[in-house]
Amino acid sequence: MQLEDLSNIRDRVKSSRKMNRKLYNWNFRQLLSFIEYKAVTEGLKVVQVSPKYTSQSCSRCGHTEKGNRPNQSTFQCKACGYQANADFNASMNIAVAG
Ligand SMILES: [Zn+2]
Repeated sequence: MQLEDLSNIRDRVKSSRKMNRKLYNWNFRQLLSFIEYKAVTEGLKVVQVSPKYTSQSCSRCGHTEKGNRPNQSTFQCKACGYQANADFNASMNIAVAG
């Protein structure tokens, strides 16, 4: 599953305002379940990878290092400098892994 598929999903649910608001308020786990559900209905396969691996792996360049996580909530890639919310980066890794 690629990032473009994720934005397509978001576009498709945009028609419903209520749904859209709901999507933005979802937490990480709910978002994951939604991605999996949509992937199944779209005939895509989402592969669950080790949370430990995804949390230390860069969703932009794929570099994996313990030092990519300076703290619990922040992800900062030592290789390319990509910085993001740690949960967001991890969810991107899980989405892309499929
Ligand atoms: Zn990187």
